[in-house]
Amino acid sequence: MKLTVLGSSAGTPTRTNPASGYLLEHDGSTMWIDAGTGTFMRLAERVDPGQLDAVVISHVHVDHASDLFGLYGYLAYGPSGHVPIPVFVTEGATELFGNFAGATGEHVFHHVLDFREVGRGDTAEVGSFALRFGASKHAVANNITRIVAGGKTLVYTGDAGPSDELAEMADGAALFLCEATLIGERHAQTYPFHLTASEAGQIAARANVGHLVLTHISHTVNPAQSVAEAAERFDGLISYAAPGTEFDI
Ligand SMILES: [Zn+2]
Repeated sequence: MKLTVLGSSAGTPTRTNPASGYLLEHDGSTMWIDAGTGTFMRLAERVDPGQLDAVVISHVHVDHASDLFGLYGYLAYGPSGHVPIPVFVTEGATELFGNFAGATGEHVFHHVLDFREVGRGDTAEVGSFALRFGASKHAVANNITRIVAGGKTLVYTGDAGPSDELAEMADGAALFLCEATLIGERHAQTYPFHLTASEAGQIAARANVGHLVLTHISHTVNPAQSVAEAAERFDGLISYAAPGTEFDI
């Protein structure tokens, strides 16, 4: 598999980094993982969005989902493609997105995007990818996604506070794409629905992953510090998901 970071900024795009979005490619299959603000055009520069095998939206916050409407426009009113494209979302997201699009009844929105609501324990196969979903602890429902292709495994947290399920889902992954919004030691006032870099390192060690890639780092944090703090807990390879980076898995 090849993972390309389209954007990785936490909560908001910046002038140099879109919000969360990733392109995953394997053997002619392509998948867009999270549709954060600014990532649709980065995706379209690399592949034809109309030929995607699937889209995965970890949760319905705008920094992970807003550019889904870019794909909707492209498919419904623009160059189009092989429709409908499966879109894996959390429970309730179909109605939420549909309401924004004004998509009642037989609206074209539902002809171009095939929403599939999934959660803990659900599985799916799209293109050459096998997917399994877990649930994280976040302010809204968030799916952890485990993807296998070509005998290799990628696990993506989406947004997540600390929970045992993260290490269980990441077990033995070749690449663990883990949010690390925060730095420093957790204390009573630390936001419960995101991870610190140190916690990302702890989870990577417990899950015995091959490569820890830190993403969703706050724009107020120096990623080099995040990598250093994660390295205090994890001996393996650690990278920062800088926008534009490609990782071979
Ligand atoms: Zn986020």
